Amino acid sequence: MKSWISKNMNALLFCILGTFLFLFNISHLSLHYAADQWELLGSMFGASLILYFYTFQIPPEGSKQSMDSAVYLACLFIFGTSAALALLLLSSLIFAACERKVSWWKHLTNFSIYTIMISGAGAVFQGLGGQLGQLQNVHLPSYVGALIVYFTLNVLCIAIYYYMIDRSDIYRMLKGLLQESILVYFCILILSLVLTILIVNNGITGLVLFLGISIFLSHLFKKLFEMYLQLQERAIRDQRTGLYNHSYFENLLEKEIKFARSEGAPLSLAMIDIDDFKRYNDHFGHLQGDKLLGLLGSILKETAAQAGITASRYGGEEFTLLMPGYNEHEALLLVNALRKKVNDTPFEGVEVLPHACLSFSAGISSYHIDIHDKSQLVLQADEALYDAKKQGKNLAYIYGSSLPMEQELEIAQDVRDIEQLLKLFLYKDINTFKHSKRVFRYAMDISLLLKLDGPARRQFVLGALIHDIGKLEIPWEILNKKEALTPEEWQAVKKHVNWGKEMAMTNDKFKELSPYIELHHERFDGTGYPHGYKGPEIPMLCRMLTVIDSFDAMTSERPYQATKSFQEAIQELRLCSGTQFDPELVELFIRYIEGESGLVPPYVTLEL
Ligand code: GH3
Ligand code: MG
Ligand code: MG
Repeated sequence: MKSWISKNMNALLFCILGTFLFLFNISHLSLHYAADQWELLGSMFGASLILYFYTFQIPPEGSKQSMDSAVYLACLFIFGTSAALALLLLSSLIFAACERKVSWWKHLTNFSIYTIMISGAGAVFQGLGGQLGQLQNVHLPSYVGALIVYFTLNVLCIAIYYYMIDRSDIYRMLKGLLQESILVYFCILILSLVLTILIVNNGITGLVLFLGISIFLSHLFKKLFEMYLQLQERAIRDQRTGLYNHSYFENLLEKEIKFARSEGAPLSLAMIDIDDFKRYNDHFGHLQGDKLLGLLGSILKETAAQAGITASRYGGEEFTLLMPGYNEHEALLLVNALRKKVNDTPFEGVEVLPHACLSFSAGISSYHIDIHDKSQLVLQADEALYDAKKQGKNLAYIYGSSLPMEQELEIAQDVRDIEQLLKLFLYKDINTFKHSKRVFRYAMDISLLLKLDGPARRQFVLGALIHDIGKLEIPWEILNKKEALTPEEWQAVKKHVNWGKEMAMTNDKFKELSPYIELHHERFDGTGYPHGYKGPEIPMLCRMLTVIDSFDAMTSERPYQATKSFQEAIQELRLCSGTQFDPELVELFIRYIEGESGLVPPYVTLEL
């Protein structure tokens, strides 16, 4: 009961005031009317009921209006406040009986608001010397005064009611109400005077005439409001994708940042850009490209609805996801799951794209105390998106999660040289390109955990980056074959370690990296290739590279194929510990992946 009262405090205040005013006024009701007056009152009652069922909406959404106000006001001008309130009571009882689904207190609140408006208008009408029954020009100020008060009380009551529900800005609310509905109010108020004149001069015929006009107008207002809603919706939607548009996103972002700041709640933003969309457009034309945008729009819309977030089209082939309540890691999980879903969605012609599937890259930024302005959050997400594109696309990055500059700088030139070589993979096998980059990224972290000194660290991470270079020699058909390989094809694949070594030996700079290229398929138990070296015969850092290389191969995504989750890959590492892998190094790597080493592993995935 207590919580009901606090929740409905606003309604309760209206009800108390309304009931008090009703009881006060109704005590003056006299029932000494002539027969034709009773007839007229009865007809007015009927008219108010009919008009009630032609209720229409006016802004703000949820606020309802009907022409029955004109009947109550006419009744007030002809028979007085108490008769108008009696009419209101009878009509309200019938409405409540017809609409039992609506709770009784809502009916009571509505009745009370009407009572407040009628009582106020009646008091002013009397106060300004208005005469009941006839409409004389000399009494015009009293009519106008009553109408103004009726209107003002109506606007105030609605504004206060909504303010108490959602604490919106009352000044803006009032301004909006006046701007958007003043015509409707004006029309109802004038109609009440017209009705009074019609009734005074033509009795029931006048009332019937009025009823016709009112029903027609109610219908018109109803249509007008529907158009208003359609226009409002169109102003915030992007027509091509059905998602929210740029300006809606900007407004919402501002609101959400304010909320995150005041409540200390998490907020993340993902900036999404379709990969190689220009290539798709060039191949199939803009119309087909538009269809692809539409498909991505519908996937984003569905995901947004499920996750309680907002998806918008930021521009061209760029989209945003605004995720209140999500920290950056939760946001990354969601975006990666979405990415996988998009990768696995078939669409005409996506084979021409480098990943042979529909894909996007994403950058994620999260609100933190230093963010003053919404454009900062967008810029940071954009920067992370740029990183994701640089690392081979079809990736999602958190802002600030790429390697610290100083770590990269020491070996920057060598990394660039190797990357130049790896870029050949962009055309031959983009998965090897990305795999090499991820293995390098893991190796950077592991070199810290192993406390490697400068030269060893340099060799290890560069070795990780270049380890698969020999695959450039494997024919394209074998590298990209979807079916199982034949024994001969397997032999060709296995040769990549030898070919890679030979390639490295031709370059003085890369010679020292050849063990990583040559030995990363050796196994701890001596059953690997090309030499069958066993345990300590394989250099320790090469054994480490084997663990990283295998883990990434198990967890890396392929479109239309299931991938091992991190948990499953960890189990597999343990299963092969001591046979394929060095047990100590396996444990070190697992501790790192599970986040127990003090470093945060950079890649996380989750199935939707
Ligand atoms: P990246 O992977 O680096 O993002 O490459 P990209 O080709 O996707 O990026 P780029 O920015 O070079 O090209 C974006 C293309 O998107 C250019 C433009 O033709 C296309 N585009 C933008 N808006 C629309 C649209 O509404 N419909 C169609 N069909 N294409 C669009
Ligand atoms: Mg773009
Ligand atoms: Mg793009």
